[in-house]
Amino acid sequence: MPRTVYVDKKECTSCGQCAENLPRYFQLDSSAISQSHNNGENINNADVPDMDVKLVQSEMDECPGECILWKR
Ligand code: SF4
Repeated sequence: MPRTVYVDKKECTSCGQCAENLPRYFQLDSSAISQSHNNGENINNADVPDMDVKLVQSEMDECPGECILWKR
């Protein structure tokens, strides 16, 4: 089932890891806080197709702020 990913921005440490590893889904905003996206759209409300769920999950697991979360 496709899922939706977002970052709980108040917990982001600005380490940049997710944006570096998976720029397709994560980018830093102008304050260096991460947010999810789809091609620069769906900001912090990014759709993730089944084929990429594991990739995003591994960024979640590695995020030092534990702040990458599934919305559904
Ligand atoms: S890995 Fe986590 S703490 Fe680091 S920039 Fe991404 S969301 Fe923020």
